[in-house]
Amino acid sequence: MSKINILSSKIYNRISAGEVVERPASVVKELVENSIDSGATSIEVEIVDGGITSIRVSDNGHGIENSEIKSAILPHATSKISKIEDLDNISSLGFRGEALPSIVSVSKFKMVSKTADSELGSILTTEGGENVEVNSCGALDGTEVTVNNLFYNTPAREKFLKTPRSEESEISSYMQRLILANPEISFKYVANDKLMYQSFGDGLESAFISIYGLSTLKECFFIDTEKNGIKIKGYIGKHHFVKSNRGYQSIFLNGRYVINNTVSSAISNAYSSYLMKRQYPFYVLSITVPTETVDVNVHPNKLDVRFSNNQIIYGTIYSVISKVLEGSSDAVNIIVENKNLETPNSLINNIDSIHNYVTHNNIDTPKKQGIYEYEMCFNDSGTPSLTKVEKLNNKEPEIDIFAENKAYLEKLEREKKERQEENSICQTEIKLDKNLTYVGQALNTFLLFEDGEDLYLLDQHAAHERIIFDKLKEGFIFDKLEIQSLLLPYVLEVNENESDFIIERLSFFRNLGMDIEEFGRNSFKISTIPLILSEINIQKFFDLVLIDINSLKKLDIKDLLFDKIAQKACKSAIKSGDKLSKEDTNVILEGIKNNFGLKCPHGRPIAVKISRTEIDKWFKRIV
Ligand code: ADP
Ligand code: MG
Repeated sequence: MSKINILSSKIYNRISAGEVVERPASVVKELVENSIDSGATSIEVEIVDGGITSIRVSDNGHGIENSEIKSAILPHATSKISKIEDLDNISSLGFRGEALPSIVSVSKFKMVSKTADSELGSILTTEGGENVEVNSCGALDGTEVTVNNLFYNTPAREKFLKTPRSEESEISSYMQRLILANPEISFKYVANDKLMYQSFGDGLESAFISIYGLSTLKECFFIDTEKNGIKIKGYIGKHHFVKSNRGYQSIFLNGRYVINNTVSSAISNAYSSYLMKRQYPFYVLSITVPTETVDVNVHPNKLDVRFSNNQIIYGTIYSVISKVLEGSSDAVNIIVENKNLETPNSLINNIDSIHNYVTHNNIDTPKKQGIYEYEMCFNDSGTPSLTKVEKLNNKEPEIDIFAENKAYLEKLEREKKERQEENSICQTEIKLDKNLTYVGQALNTFLLFEDGEDLYLLDQHAAHERIIFDKLKEGFIFDKLEIQSLLLPYVLEVNENESDFIIERLSFFRNLGMDIEEFGRNSFKISTIPLILSEINIQKFFDLVLIDINSLKKLDIKDLLFDKIAQKACKSAIKSGDKLSKEDTNVILEGIKNNFGLKCPHGRPIAVKISRTEIDKWFKRIV
């Protein structure tokens, strides 16, 4: 029997580090949460190589007393609770006292901190929790933690790290959510010396702009309402502002980012009648419910929560979003018109000369609802500035919403109908590999052929489409694709995940004849495309490719291209109703001879066979 050992704190910390510090992003999360708990109003995060080489988080919070700094890195050391009753009343993000000792045990760690009432600050350094040194030093009020060489002493964990780029994108997603969830705190986030996001702590709108930009803001309804004790506030995309994956959906429950099925399906279902397949709504919603109706006491790393009454949550959110989208009269009470949208002062204050800036605070006419837009202007030295301009257009909001809705619904209805019509045609496939004799064209749509004892009716459009499709596909498979240079390179803008996805497949796209290269952050420049795609919108093509990246990882992009090829074939094929010349007929006849699976690229049948026996039966020649 082995002896039972009490683990040394060194071993214990490394084991618990495995749970708390999974990846660089978890270190950033723990450090930032400590900064928020310290009452900071300004927090800076800087990472190098996806946080693997270094992570620095600094804040202007209340700091740590010189005499306490050594305790901060001890296991179970926390200033956030002291007695058992405190557990029932936790208002801080951390309270377990696990983060710092865990981080310390797997990195080269430095912490500088100073409280407002002490003159000097202190600096603590340690490598893997050993050789802890504490000294006095000059410092600003607040705390700065630097974590270098994460997992340098735990090679097993180091192996599990992804590429610096992937780790960085995980941290960037976290920073996005953090900024949106804490609009009252200013954040600055720098990765490899590049300023990625900067927010100014002056409200949700400003935070939203710093992540998604002004153009997205304009595409959203800003809603703010309370129903059944549930507060719902934030931005939801207008009907036409749909995304091709779920990466643009954030829910903050009582200030915390969550992934929750009840909430997300309520929103999705409210949108469902406005969305086509593979379209997803955009939203950043903050939902506040009474704390006693939600159980957040799951593991701190888990993002889900449990509601005591799912139905109320679902019903309330569903009804609020539906009303906004329907443009019902209630929507006016839910949507906050632009009058409440603050000018993002901090953005404007950054500009030296603001002579282009026009304010319309409507101080003397507070009741009047102005409609504002932001415009990009340039001052004399060419510095861009954002200008909030009031538009004279003072339409009633209800009318706006209704009109937009109606047009959109009509369009959907039309598209649905077209699809239904297409699907309703369904006949069995037949094989056509014989020598046919052309009889003539009927109804300007069908070609009649006979073959001894059988009569064939060919759909001229479907048949021609198939011929073109096969030719294009052959070119595609045998690398005989023609390439077209674009007059102006197309610049494709994507998000972090999408960018990773494309980068991993650059060679695939290039093999298709697409000259694509990275063009700044999360953007790509496309200079040539395969001729097949010349008639389609490149953005649409990528929207299709990026639909649900996770599932697409398994899906073959070739299938998508064949789809495009089919569309192209359809466009250039002879239409039904076209009168055909003898040459046209010959083209079809020759082309069709080599085709065995006789269906058009959309899956409709090309030909219908009527047998001699069948016709004989019509005329009662046989029974
Ligand atoms: P917890 O957050 O669960 O209390 P941590 O290990 O994350 O545990 O931190 C330990 C303690 O160190 C905290 O309780 C707090 O007193 C102190 N501390 C850590 N980071 C900061 C910071 N940025 N500002 C002020 N105090 C901090
Ligand atoms: Mg903590």
